[in-house]
Amino acid sequence: MKYVIIGGDAAGMSAAMQIVRNVEEAEVTTLEAGGIYSYAQCGLPYIVGGEVEHTDKLIARDVETFREKYGIDARVFHHVEAVDTKKQIVSGQNLETGQPFELPYDKLLIASGGSPVLPDVPGRTLKGVHTLKTIPDIEAIDADLDDVHDVTIIGGGYIGLELAENLIETGRNVRIIDRNDRIAKMFDPDMTPLIHEEAGKHGVELCLGESVEALEGVQRIQAVQTTGSWYDTDLVIAATGIRPNTDFLENAGVQLRHNGAVQVDAWMRTNVDHVYAAGDCAVQYHRIKERDDYVPLGTHANKQGRAAGKNMAGIPKQFQGIVGTSILRFFDLTLAKTGLNEAEAESMSFPFDTVMHQTVDKAGYFEGKKPLTLKLVYRTDTEEVIGGQVIGESGAAKRIDVLAVTLFHRMTLDDYEDLDLSYAPPYNGVWDPIQQTVRRAT
Ligand SMILES: Cc1cc2nc3c(=O)[nH]c(=O)nc-3n(C[C@H](O)[C@H](O)[C@H](O)COP(=O)(O)OP(=O)(O)OC[C@H]3O[C@@H](n4cnc5c(N)ncnc54)[C@H](O)[C@@H]3O)c2cc1C
Repeated sequence: MKYVIIGGDAAGMSAAMQIVRNVEEAEVTTLEAGGIYSYAQCGLPYIVGGEVEHTDKLIARDVETFREKYGIDARVFHHVEAVDTKKQIVSGQNLETGQPFELPYDKLLIASGGSPVLPDVPGRTLKGVHTLKTIPDIEAIDADLDDVHDVTIIGGGYIGLELAENLIETGRNVRIIDRNDRIAKMFDPDMTPLIHEEAGKHGVELCLGESVEALEGVQRIQAVQTTGSWYDTDLVIAATGIRPNTDFLENAGVQLRHNGAVQVDAWMRTNVDHVYAAGDCAVQYHRIKERDDYVPLGTHANKQGRAAGKNMAGIPKQFQGIVGTSILRFFDLTLAKTGLNEAEAESMSFPFDTVMHQTVDKAGYFEGKKPLTLKLVYRTDTEEVIGGQVIGESGAAKRIDVLAVTLFHRMTLDDYEDLDLSYAPPYNGVWDPIQQTVRRAT
């Protein structure tokens, strides 16, 4: 059986490993447009700040390991340009030799991820204008930082915030420009002051409610023109989201969503026989929204890839879906979210309410306690908790994962009161902060 996988990172190689482990004499070929396999993109921002010493540390398994230890025909610089799903042939170009290639498949996995979107403004090709997605990207940013004093980040989402923190650590001026009136807008507006305060405390300049209109400079970036102002700068990093890499499927008959993500079912099958998809190039089923969504995260890519690999190997495995959980360190704070925020809840048809609670991470009498802010979103018809946000210096990670599990299993406010959560004074009060918050809603 010939297996072909497009994409050599999280989703693609999770699938490849399931196939080689479960199918005797599987012929697995992986086609990767870049030169590096299986690396942790999530660690890239920490290269700049020095918390991760070297990009080598981010590589989980190198291409030689896949070839020699697992017998995978792992090809580098093989760019796929088309898929003929009738003849079951993948074609493209070897970027090193310039030669075209064609490869037949019995089963195909599309795991081509996504690419950063650079705002479509004049000056985007100037030197010193970057995006961040790959190891070569962070190496280019790092190499370009030498004489840089002032960095502008476009976009105040997760990657923008992580970059801001890491660049501040290097002593540079850092500004975030965002067209919204707040950064981290996955959190509700009433949680925003905590995040803005933290940015201010650490010297990140926030330029909000402004859209970038042009990047200015002669050869190299010198300034950013926005709808509201003009900022002199030495380097720009655009962190304005990603778009699925699915252009090569244009004539393949594979169903795509409006944003280009591949439509898959719970078994990671597309609408075309023998063709699967997983990771940032595909949709994810959202358990609370009860519909497909697009939430491109490594945690989903690994699980979807593993499920795809099992199904391709003939072992039925459903991807159970997501609830929309994420976490991020922003200087001294942990910002964590699961489920729906208020804006997302408003887009649904059910009635809901929210409860917010400011508490501490330890027993109230305990030395060294730190503020912890929680917010829950719950349905008023069924009392099901459908969203949670937690921000604090300590204890947020524990709470968000408890919430994520309860959301996954669709528990109600009443169920929370009975949860047997751990308790000792250095970690919480006798009623855990989650239960304290729930009790304010009931
Ligand atoms: C800076 C940064 C920080 C992040 N932090 C987090 C985090 O903290 N937590 C989290 O859950 N997620 C995080 N993510 C997201 C996470 O890294 C991605 O969701 C994950 O890498 C997606 O894996 P994937 O295999 O689907 O796609 P990718 O990792 O994008 O891999 C797809 C591969 O396909 C290749 N490819 C594309 N098109 C073709 C083609 N036509 N032919 C051949 N090969 C092709 C690409 O070169 C690429 O190597 C972060 C991402 C970035 C960039």
